[in-house]
Amino acid sequence: PTFERMGLKEDLLRGIYAYGYETPSAVQSRAIVQILKGRDTIAQAQSGTGKTATFSIAMLQTIDTKVRETQALILSPTRELATQIQNVVLALGNYMNVQCHACIGGKSISEDIRKLDYGQHAVSGTPGRVADMIRRRNLRTRHIKMLILDEADELLNRGFKDQIYDIYRYLPPSTQVVVVSATLPYDVLEMTNKFTSDPVRILV
Ligand code: AMP
Repeated sequence: PTFERMGLKEDLLRGIYAYGYETPSAVQSRAIVQILKGRDTIAQAQSGTGKTATFSIAMLQTIDTKVRETQALILSPTRELATQIQNVVLALGNYMNVQCHACIGGKSISEDIRKLDYGQHAVSGTPGRVADMIRRRNLRTRHIKMLILDEADELLNRGFKDQIYDIYRYLPPSTQVVVVSATLPYDVLEMTNKFTSDPVRILV
């Protein structure tokens, strides 16, 4: 399998190669095509497998950059991870003119508001701040078509369950859900049961 065979947009393909990726990792080969078919996807994958680029590439392919509204939301357990994901999205999307904001605790709310008002195609954040920005109506959810939960087991271990479920309630019912988790304990399965329908399961 190659990235070309995935039918990716030319400008996205260019970003992938410029970032130094030549061939897809196992999780990328298996998950990207499923996500692009529109399937809810549960990938059991640890860090080091190329999981971040998996959902970042699928998300960038799905986003329409001509529409300056938030179309994808990525939730992760730590500020560091949310920032890393933002950087991967911006790097892979380097030729796409994509806006991706990191919505994380500990940074200024007014900066969040300014960035969100300007228009962000994607938001990578921690659940607390994201839920806050949605409740304040600064993060508009009407155009969201993809929710990505990265390190879902860690998200729940850190006590973000209520905030994630709260965020989910604001999303359009048709939102595609992608869950990445190193382990699949009961609370993760309970959440995926609630958020996904007929999901593809990928184990790497
Ligand atoms: P992750 O699993 O997201 O933590 O990624 C692990 C490491 O693999 C990161 O340094 C990525 O930049 C790198 N990586 C991801 N996908 C590829 C690929 N297709 N080719 C080469 N390196 C990759």
